[in-house]
Amino acid sequence: MADLDTGVRFIKGVGEQRAKSLNKLGIETLRDLVGYFPRAYEDRTEVRRISQLVPGETVCVLATVAADPRLSHIRKGLDLLRLRAVDESGSLSITFFNQSYVKDSLKLGETYAFYGKIGGSLIQPEMTNPVFEPESSFSVTRRIMPVYRLTAGLSQNLVARCVAQGLAACGDLLPDPLPAEIQQTYRLCQSRYAYENIHFPKSPEDLETARRRLIFEEFFVFACALAYMRRGRVKKQGIPIPAPDMTAFYEALPFRLTGAQNRAVADALRDMAADEPMSRLIQGDVGSGKTVVAAACCYAAARAGFQSAMMAPTEILAEQHCRTLTEMLEPLGLHVELLTGKMPAKTRREVLARLETGAADVVVGTHALISAGAVFDALGLVITDEQHRFGVAQRAALTAKGTSPHVLVMSATPIPRTLALMMYGELDISVIDELPPGRTPVETYAVDESMRARIYAFMRRLVGEGRQIYVVCPMVEENETGDDGLKSVSAYAKRLQEEIFSDLRVGFVHGKMKSKEKESVMRAFAAGELDILVATTVIEVGVDVPNAALMVVENADRFGLSQLHQLRGRVGRGKHQSYCVLFRGGGDVAKERLRVMCETTDGFKISEEDLKLRGPGDFFGNRQHGLPEMKIADLSLDIRLMQDAQAAAQELIAADPELARPEHRELQAHVQRMLTKSADTLN
Ligand code: ADP
Ligand code: MG
Repeated sequence: MADLDTGVRFIKGVGEQRAKSLNKLGIETLRDLVGYFPRAYEDRTEVRRISQLVPGETVCVLATVAADPRLSHIRKGLDLLRLRAVDESGSLSITFFNQSYVKDSLKLGETYAFYGKIGGSLIQPEMTNPVFEPESSFSVTRRIMPVYRLTAGLSQNLVARCVAQGLAACGDLLPDPLPAEIQQTYRLCQSRYAYENIHFPKSPEDLETARRRLIFEEFFVFACALAYMRRGRVKKQGIPIPAPDMTAFYEALPFRLTGAQNRAVADALRDMAADEPMSRLIQGDVGSGKTVVAAACCYAAARAGFQSAMMAPTEILAEQHCRTLTEMLEPLGLHVELLTGKMPAKTRREVLARLETGAADVVVGTHALISAGAVFDALGLVITDEQHRFGVAQRAALTAKGTSPHVLVMSATPIPRTLALMMYGELDISVIDELPPGRTPVETYAVDESMRARIYAFMRRLVGEGRQIYVVCPMVEENETGDDGLKSVSAYAKRLQEEIFSDLRVGFVHGKMKSKEKESVMRAFAAGELDILVATTVIEVGVDVPNAALMVVENADRFGLSQLHQLRGRVGRGKHQSYCVLFRGGGDVAKERLRVMCETTDGFKISEEDLKLRGPGDFFGNRQHGLPEMKIADLSLDIRLMQDAQAAAQELIAADPELARPEHRELQAHVQRMLTKSADTLN
């Protein structure tokens, strides 16, 4: 009888040599074998007609050999076998390089399933080195084929056969670290089903079901390992702030919270009511409504007699938040203050005094909150907005002004930072994945140079209707790169102003300007004193100009998709239909990338796409993030599943910190294995 620890030699057809090859792939035992997941799949379930073939696609075609295969010897080491195959819709030219032996397996007049990548043109499609099999056996093997990472001495077929045997031998012995209850709650399939379908799925849906289960499992075990490791850590004593009756707060709002906002508020209020200080990240797309969540927390703190401080990265943002919080909270009797570096000294002293006496309930400010020597009467809650602008040290400095105050961080940052934070367990996360109702999505167009004149005319028309426009360029100085095609902000703004829109008011900002200058231009734009603002990405950070209805991005292919999404978030904040125009350079890749922008306004989808295109390596850097290697879960792509898994893990560890319960025995074993394996990456 074989079990999971049986060596791979057990498999029929695996002798010493093949076992060695398998070992090279890290496959020693049957456990390793069934856990050796495909790196990709070939979907041979869908058969295309020849007339529908598109170059570049990898597809399956059922076609009849219409002429005897012709073999030609091109030169030493290069043989070509060509043949023509047809179906009722057209004809396909097929070429095999150095596979002359194929000649005898392909018979004139017989029909085969050919699977491969389409080359040639729409009119004359070609296939090179396809895999093929007779139509008669195709009905049996017509399925999604696993593609494994191989090494010398192994073939796809061999590995697939070994895995199938391994599954047959010990499919019933597969250990399942997931407690039944969690499987139910998150609607995950059985372990055996998952293993069978990750290797040999019958349909894309089955594959997805299997993948979802295995990814969840991987995250879950990992999250349990983290939580298990930290179980002994000393907890900080915080100030429990019981959730007050929130009715008055909700009734004073001009809108009803979305489901996602409600969940975020509930998460935060629950945290604040606990003994331990809250440490929560609110992650939500631009415009998803994070501010009101912060306001709700300030309200709860004030009801219990505690002050709140919110720190924003710029003066304009601080002012904006102060206005919003004032509107939401003053009618309820709270006192909201602003504190920035450029306030007159006298005003500042007065604000500081009100903070110290406790007359002020909420203060919104820039990092002057840290530097201006603010002393609080009873600081209970610290909020930072757009947190990637603040270092951990700055956040800590503000936090130090209270006695372990609760901490809320708001961010619309792309995923990676968030992921890292989550992995380090510093912060819990609430995701606001739903936009307030009634938003008209920003209409987005990717255009090339031939459209420039029309876009300029469109800009003029919008300004004529009273709207304002952002134009973003990637570069600061003309000669920062040798690339003449890049638009430098100052030169470009000058040209726009002088040559194209001489009758309009054009301003510009870039990152190299002094922050005072920057702020004054931004302020002028916000006040409607400029029609067009030419800028580098400094405008990414959330200043609200509801009257801005068009975002034009030059050299859009130079930006990451997530960044473009952030930029686009600057428009569509008012009642006017808004637009985003992306000027793209040449190239199909650029076209393909920007297509995503035109098709969706869902920030999660876009950052997923971004990660697919750029790869997580770019995001994470040289594996310095301390994350362990994941077998199936892609840390960048499966964030929601990861959050579910983390929540489940936290709950479980809270209930059974030592994983001592009998139903957690298998999980305990998995956790131990992961801790041993990752001893140096986890800390
Ligand atoms: P974020 O900071 O997440 O980008 P904000 O908090 O600035 O978003 O909110 C964006 C806009 O949406 C604000 O004008 C706000 O008043 C509005 N808003 C927020 N929540 C809702 C809601 N539930 N229903 C309608 N409007 C909302
Ligand atoms: Mg905001």
